[in-house]
Amino acid sequence: MNVKVDIDPSSGFCAGVIKAISTAENYLTHHEHLYCLGAIVHNDEELARLQNLGLRRIDSLNEYANASGQHAPAGDLLPIPDASAPAGDSLPVLIRAHGEPPQTYREAVENGIELIDCTCPVVLRLQKDIHQAWLRLSPKGGHLLIFGKKGHAEVLGLQGQTDGQALIVESAAQLEDLLKKGALDTDCDLEIFSQTTKSPEEYLSLCQTLDKRMGKGCLTVHDTICRQVSSRHKTLSDFAISHDIIIFVSGKSSSNGKVLFELCRERNPRSYAIESASGLDRAWFKDGDNVGVCGATSTPKWLLEQVRDTIIAQTF
Ligand code: SF4
Repeated sequence: MNVKVDIDPSSGFCAGVIKAISTAENYLTHHEHLYCLGAIVHNDEELARLQNLGLRRIDSLNEYANASGQHAPAGDLLPIPDASAPAGDSLPVLIRAHGEPPQTYREAVENGIELIDCTCPVVLRLQKDIHQAWLRLSPKGGHLLIFGKKGHAEVLGLQGQTDGQALIVESAAQLEDLLKKGALDTDCDLEIFSQTTKSPEEYLSLCQTLDKRMGKGCLTVHDTICRQVSSRHKTLSDFAISHDIIIFVSGKSSSNGKVLFELCRERNPRSYAIESASGLDRAWFKDGDNVGVCGATSTPKWLLEQVRDTIIAQTF
């Protein structure tokens, strides 16, 4: 079988993930271990590589503090969270690019845990904007809506800026449901924000639906999809159309991966999603195919290259 294989030049880690991973790698060149709150990236292959370097995942600061015995003395809780300040001899915990809710920073102070904060600057800005919007809206009974995946780490961090009061919608159907149930007062002020990695097309359509239903002057739309994600939608769309077959490489739990794979499949029905080269299937390929290999903002370049090399060598 004779095939030509290209890697999408716009695929691979986004700037936020690159910064978090390089911070972890730098730390691990001088230390045996580093703890990360949650998965630093939604990609099992990259997680395994980082685990070999000494990166360990924890799911809660409180559990971590209990396990390592790192408690601040009773009554020694600081009133103002300042997690940038090193906390004595505590082992640091890395905050990934998705960011965390304010509660996490309070827990760090309460337990004397130093944080290495790798929240992406774009997410940090969004958290601040949501906080400001909530200060405007809550006194007058307005609504704050976030278009995002319920339970996603970034969304939990954003929701935390509103004391958990922001409404989350994952789809146009869920928005319709809220409107039908009367959960949104269409004559009140409403501000809508999007998780940074959502589809720009879906967000636009959701905002247009709201615009038709809300009272005059009540709706404020915030353009908060990450530029790296929105520009990738355009380049990936062209990439999918210009190849005979698309091999999309991404972790199963990557929300950005699901959105980008759907985009590829809409543009090119011969699109296949895999997590690594071991997922390749010979039956997908035809002689003479021009193959495109691409991935999510959480897919490492080395993994795309591994998939490309496996297709070229045809060792699958
Ligand atoms: S997708 Fe954009 S906002 Fe999200 S972590 Fe990456 S660079 Fe930051």
